[in-house]
Amino acid sequence: MTVLSDLVDALADGRVEVVDLTAPLSAETPILELPPEFGQTARFQLEEISRYDDRGPAWYWNNFRTGEHTGTHFDAPNHWVTGKDMADVGSVPPAAFLAPAVVLDVADRVSDDPNFLIEVEHIRAFEAEHGALPAGGWLLCRTGWSARVTQADMINNTETGPTSPGMSAECARWVAEESALQGIGVETVGTDAGAAHSFDPAFPCHSFLMGNGKYGLAQLQNLDRLPPTGAVVVAPPLRIVGGSGSPVRVLALVEH
Ligand code: MN
Repeated sequence: MTVLSDLVDALADGRVEVVDLTAPLSAETPILELPPEFGQTARFQLEEISRYDDRGPAWYWNNFRTGEHTGTHFDAPNHWVTGKDMADVGSVPPAAFLAPAVVLDVADRVSDDPNFLIEVEHIRAFEAEHGALPAGGWLLCRTGWSARVTQADMINNTETGPTSPGMSAECARWVAEESALQGIGVETVGTDAGAAHSFDPAFPCHSFLMGNGKYGLAQLQNLDRLPPTGAVVVAPPLRIVGGSGSPVRVLALVEH
């Protein structure tokens, strides 16, 4: 096939660059914090089985324990009650894992206001400058939040609770119900803003996107290395039977 052989050539000679959008996954990777009355997601943990020793002289390997929603991860529709009868992470159609992406850069506004919310008007302004959002694609929201690599900096607790940027309820509804996107990607620990527990509905990105069979990508990095349009995102989560999400290695193909 000419298209794939052209892609292989372009990867080899650097016309297409592979950019890693994935946060390192370790016990230090920041995780979502819920109020104490709720169940909590687990930190990533390695448990050594053997390391060229009595337990296995020629081999090194680990078991690991992790939340499905720990680190850079994929949200499947059944993650939220609004999508409880929709696809689990193991039955999302694989074509969704290879999709065009656009990058909306609001990092300047977030540096002035950590509670900054993306509104429909910001997306409309993006479309006026760069063209229509890609059908079946991702809207990646660049906030600069990925520079916060510790638990405390990522969650950013203030007197009002977690304080981090996101999307307004109306914008989340618009993306889910009116746009042709398949989902959104963010730099924060989840797709919703830190204060989204107080929105109407609560956690609107989860509520509207999952309820419309759409997807989320959280804790992305290196969005500053992507163009506003034209990148292709490769994000295949583990095929966990019945699962609600999965850690995922997210790559972007960028044409130079
Ligand atoms: Mn999640």
